[in-house]
Amino acid sequence: MNLIEKDSQYLWHPYTQHKTAALPIAITKGEGALLWDENNKEYVDAIASWWVNPYGHSNKFIADAIYKQLTTLEHVLFGGFTHEPAIVLAEKLLAILPTNQKKVFFSDNGSTSVEVAIKVALQNFYNKGEKRTTIIAFENAFHGDTFAAMAASGISFYTQAFQGMFIDVVRIPVPVEGREQESFDTLKNVIQNHNCAGFIFEPLVQGAAGMVMYKPEALDTLIQICRENKVLTIADEVMTGFGKTGKTFACDYLKEKPDMMCLSKALTGGTIPMAITTFTQDLFDAFYDEDINKALFHGHTFTANPTGCAAALASLTLLETDEMQQNLIRINQNHLEFKKRIEKHPMVTTARVLGVIFALEIKTETSASYYGTLRNRLYDFFIENGVILRPVGNIVYILPPYVITDVQLQKVYEVAEKALEIV
Ligand SMILES: *Cc1c(COP(=O)(O)O)cnc(C)c1O
Repeated sequence: MNLIEKDSQYLWHPYTQHKTAALPIAITKGEGALLWDENNKEYVDAIASWWVNPYGHSNKFIADAIYKQLTTLEHVLFGGFTHEPAIVLAEKLLAILPTNQKKVFFSDNGSTSVEVAIKVALQNFYNKGEKRTTIIAFENAFHGDTFAAMAASGISFYTQAFQGMFIDVVRIPVPVEGREQESFDTLKNVIQNHNCAGFIFEPLVQGAAGMVMYKPEALDTLIQICRENKVLTIADEVMTGFGKTGKTFACDYLKEKPDMMCLSKALTGGTIPMAITTFTQDLFDAFYDEDINKALFHGHTFTANPTGCAAALASLTLLETDEMQQNLIRINQNHLEFKKRIEKHPMVTTARVLGVIFALEIKTETSASYYGTLRNRLYDFFIENGVILRPVGNIVYILPPYVITDVQLQKVYEVAEKALEIV
């Protein structure tokens, strides 16, 4: 049996209907923004492998840091024990996060970082003897696939089998241009009519919804409304964190800072699964008590894994280099030029850019579904042409590794433009 036959025999892939899905591609090697399959065909990874890999595949600097940590202390339990990589990472992160963030809690992936934030929001009020059990979230949000994260997510086919089994979540419209007031009014209304504990949002860009963007001023207003009503705010920066929006965090564009932040994806540069939820001092204090029942009884076996921490520290070092900061600016400028050129195309409804994130919406007669035929035709076309792009319905987005070269980036644009001819 070859690799793909064995894959079909043994594996169950994520987000995959195995009866109708095409066979997967076996990747054997990666370097920078490039990947190679088992037949040595080359691909430009224009989505940084689900947004985790800004510094390039098989990055030597991160690999060396991991090796060094693996051969010093690979893992130790974090209950009752601690270690330098976790402490140094927490200190370094808190120094670059909004200044109201004071405490770092570790977990393993984006969904668990959200799960922790939602549990803290709910237990915060429980500890204070106040009945607040509703979570507010945006329409079409994506916060992950564990149960509370899934409840907060609004993309229906991810969650429809589980309707009726969720914590209480009420949705408000995303304040995209022209819908700001509707979003503010709905939020006020929801807060008046429910016992709201927290509001979770993807700041400035909704990733899985198709890179839907809205303005920092609108989010400032929403956070303000929450603050006036003692509703906790949770910025899910799992996708937007570590430079993607042009600033280190999307929250850096805000005047109002959230009470909690969720980080994962690019945290370790695509090397080791790890996530972090950060909190204000007030939230930590709401659990700080003689009474053990007020503690946060949440943890994961691999919490604060030292190897993951070393990978995150190396990643942060890379992000802060002049070279990487220049890359962010260079990619943004390229995106803006491409936007100018492509948005006049008769097949394009709109194009939008924030930082290294680019998205274009293709004109379609009918509304294109998430994994519909148009989407599949586009995906196949990109793969044929050696570019990894995963359209969301009729939205094609580019979110490349920061180390992508200009030549590679131009290739991605060319293939995206050519794809408009096959629609
Ligand atoms: C990917 C993502 C998650 C879930 O992260 P996983 O590591 O896949 O569990 C949560 N929130 C946002 C905004 C994401 O993009």
